[in-house]
Parts: sequence; structure tokens; C-alpha cells
Amino acid sequence: MWFRLDLRLSDNRALAAAISSGARVIPVYIHDPHEAGAWSPGAASRWWLHQSLKSLDQQLAENGSKLIILQGDSHDELIELQEKTGATRLFWNRRYDPQGVRRDQRVEAAFKERGVKVETFNSSLLHEPDMVRTADGNPFRVFTPFWNRLLSSLVPEPPLAAVSVPAMPPKAVQSLPLDELKLEPSIDWAHGLRGSWEPGEAGAQKRLAQFVGSGLFSYSTARDRPDLNGISMLSPHLHFGEIGPRQVWHSAKSALDAARKRDARAAANRDGSSTKNIDVEVFLKELGWREFAYHVLFNFPDTCDQPMRKQFSDFAWRQDPPALRAWQRGKTGYPIVDAGMRQLWHMGWMHNRVRMIVGSFLTKDLLLSWNEGAKWFWDTLVDADLASNTLGWQWCAGCGADAAPYFRIFNPVLQGEKFDPDGHYIRRWVPELAALPSKWIHKPWQAPETVLEKAGVKLGFNYPGPIIDHAFARKRALEALHQCTASVPS
Ligand SMILES: Cc1cc2nc3c(=O)[nH]c(=O)nc-3n(C[C@H](O)[C@H](O)[C@H](O)COP(=O)(O)OP(=O)(O)OC[C@H]3O[C@@H](n4cnc5c(N)ncnc54)[C@H](O)[C@@H]3O)c2cc1C
Repeated sequence: MWFRLDLRLSDNRALAAAISSGARVIPVYIHDPHEAGAWSPGAASRWWLHQSLKSLDQQLAENGSKLIILQGDSHDELIELQEKTGATRLFWNRRYDPQGVRRDQRVEAAFKERGVKVETFNSSLLHEPDMVRTADGNPFRVFTPFWNRLLSSLVPEPPLAAVSVPAMPPKAVQSLPLDELKLEPSIDWAHGLRGSWEPGEAGAQKRLAQFVGSGLFSYSTARDRPDLNGISMLSPHLHFGEIGPRQVWHSAKSALDAARKRDARAAANRDGSSTKNIDVEVFLKELGWREFAYHVLFNFPDTCDQPMRKQFSDFAWRQDPPALRAWQRGKTGYPIVDAGMRQLWHMGWMHNRVRMIVGSFLTKDLLLSWNEGAKWFWDTLVDADLASNTLGWQWCAGCGADAAPYFRIFNPVLQGEKFDPDGHYIRRWVPELAALPSKWIHKPWQAPETVLEKAGVKLGFNYPGPIIDHAFARKRALEALHQCTASVPS
């Protein structure tokens, strides 16, 4: 059983099939640091991977088994393992990113040639990414018709219960110590990550239970508010496959059924139930965006590097290393942007609304390339995922599938005032501004001198003034993007 982004024992179709084959199962993980080239896991992902592998190994040990950790070219390592053990079958859950697909095809062909049966499964998506097509047989480029089509045929199978993996792998198979993969940073900067997350299947299940118990039924109203606890924070667990989307889907559906029964017993009015229904629908739709991201990446594999809308291929993004650095470090002088970038730096994660705001700021206010943003997120996010990151960045820049139109340029002050009205999010992540009244917290440069002084804010000293004027930047972006979108037909 070749584990990859499916680091769990429950609802793991490949693992379940391997066990039910009746043969002795050898659970193996192969680390190939160069396999994915530029998109090899970034620093935050590597930290998470280390913890997740440790947790999986512990789970396997509780079952009397062990995770065999290898390092090197996956194809070569698997061939060697097969020769050592005489394994007769190879099981895995399918990957859908371009590098993963290529690698899997190569391994599958090699094993077939050797007479070893390869059995593959889908454990990471609700549906195969190529399952639905438009009426004229093309992949979808717009989310809503994609999701409607998928929903009309989608009945995610019920998740499988956790399995126990019997018997130790043969003694001939030696595992590398996990530390030898050097996934953890040599200088320990990960205290914020450690304090924020519990990687591994148990942590994922806890996170899901917490969300379903307290956040799900306010999701549709709270999900856009970074100052509230209104989202699931399941993304890194989903990325590493510590939990599968079928499990999340059915858990949300079961909670809805249970709530409806309770409401019916209490003779609650119909409105109460339908609000809950909307919350669950909106939440499941977010899982739909994840499916869409994979649909797009699978069908347009070069979009992780190239814009989907070809007009953008030659767009003259600015080069401005100091501005890029200010953005990366959370020192742009726009509090909502800085709060988001500092949340990312501290905990390896950022609220979705704020991802959109910082993305708009980078690509439109600063006119820096979405590739720069995607690369930075790739290194710093614990949920860095090639499909979702690509879709998210191309959405922000206006060059992707179902992207924000070029003239949609977020005003960082208005966004802050709307989605963090009391400034709690800013106070948490930009403590220099904590004492400012809510009225000024999203635009400190407009606050009267006396207010700033009382709050201990010295613009340009302990907090920067805005690195660019938004009104000027907006006009500049509109002109540049208008020319670009008008110049070449799509
Ligand atoms: C510029 C940008 C970059 C992004 N990069 C990533 C990334 O690398 N990895 C990643 O998982 N998500 C990415 N997203 C999507 C989204 O921001 C995160 O999935 C979400 O913030 C995760 O928080 P959550 O688990 O609390 O989500 P919830 O709101 O609780 O949603 C549940 C799940 O649905 C999925 N989901 C939600 N929104 C989206 C979305 N817009 N696109 C795809 N899937 C979604 C996630 O798997 C998420 O865990 C990006 C968005 C933007 C705008």
C-alpha cells in the first residue's frame, strides 16, 4: 500500500482493498524531494508532512504494523521493494496533479511489465475530476454549471470505517527514520504552527467534530468574517488526506438530518430548518470549489504556471522587490492586508476572505504577478495545494477559470470595515494598532494625530504608512488590465 496524500486509515479505499485482498500489507511512504520540481512541498507543508507521517506511523503501530519510509525516486524505490518482498500487488489512491499523474503512469506501466497488478482508487475527491463535461464535451471553465452538473449526479458513497492493518511488514524491509527526511526546519520557526494545529487523522476528526458541533449552522453568515470562528479550518487535513471529502460531506449531511429531527420534535417552524439547510448547502459548495479546482488543473495542467486566459500571457507585471517584500512581511500599511500576511506567517494559514483581499492587493494594487503570490503561499501555507492555490491566484488576478473580472479590485479599507467591523482580526495580528478605535483601525493614516498618539501609533515608525495610494493604484490597474483584456481575443 503506497501512501501519498491519503495519510489516514478510515475511508481509505486503496488501503481497505489491500487489506481485504488477504495478503500481508506493507504500508510504504516514499519521499522524493525533487519529483514535483518547483512545486515540491514548501517549508510549511514539509513541517506538516513530518507530523502527519509520525501520526500515521503511530496509528499503524497501534495495529501491530509499521510505516515503511523510503527516500528517492518513487519508481526505483518501489521496484526495489517489490524485488525484496515479492509483493504481488500494488495499491494506491490516485493523484490528480500533473506531476502525480505522470509519475503514477510511469510506475503503473513498469509494474504491469513485471506482472504485478496495480489497483488504484479515488479517496481524495467526491468525484473523478474528469467525470463531468459541458454539453459540447469540453471541461467546465465556470463553477456554477460545473457544480450543478456534478450535484445532479453526485451521491458520494458512504465513507468506509477505519481499518486495522494486520501484521508487521517483513524484516527484510527497512524503514528510514522519519528525521532522516529532514522535513522539519533546521532553525525552529514552527512554534506558531505547533500551537495552531494537530496534524494527523485524529486531529482532523477533532476539527471536523468541532466544526459540525459549533460552526456548521452559522456557516453561511459567518464564513466571510475573519474575526469569527465561522469556518472549518479543515483545508490542511483535506490536502494531506488525513480526512476525505466523503467523510466531511456525510458528516455535514448527518448533522443536518439530526438537526431536522430535533427541530421536528420541538415543532420548530420551517424557517429554522431551511436556514440550517442553507448553511449546509453553502458549506458543501465550498467542497465543490475544491472539486472544481481539481477539474480545472486536471484538464488544464499547465495552469499552475501559465494563465488560463491567454490574453494574460504577455501581461507586463511590475517588478518591485521592496513592494513584494513589504507584502510578504505584512508591512504594506493596509491593516487588513498586513493582518492576513502575518496570520499566514504565524500559523501557515489564512482566512479565505483575507486570501482574496491580499491576492487582489498584490495583483491589482501592486500589479505584481500572481505567480509571485502563488509561490509565496506555496512555501508558507500548511494547506498549500496545487489545484486550489492555482485556482485561487488566477481568480484574484482575473486570468483564470471563473475569475474575478479585471475591474473587480478590492478596496482594502472597505473590505476590512465590512468583514472585520470591530477590528478584532486586526488587533490580533497587528498588535501595534490594537489601541486604535474601530473607526480608524482600517485606515490609520486618516486618523487625527491626537487619536494616533493616544493609541501609541507612530506611522512610519512602529507601523508603516500605506505603500501605495489605493485610488491611484486602482486607476493604474484598470488601465493596464483593460488594455490587456481588450487587446487579444481569448
Ligand atoms: C489566493 C488563494 C489561494 C488559495 N490557496 C489554497 C491552497 O493552497 N489550498 C487550499 O486548500 N485552499 C486554497 N484556497 C482556497 C481557500 O482559501 C481555502 O481552502 C480555505 O480558506 C480553507 O479554509 P477552511 O478549511 O476553513 O475552509 P471552509 O470554508 O471551511 O471550506 C471547507 C473546505 O472547502 C474547500 N474550499 C473552501 N474554499 C475553497 C476555494 N475557494 N477553493 C478551493 N477549495 C475551497 C477547502 O478544502 C476547505 O477546507 C486559496 C484561495 C485563494 C483566494
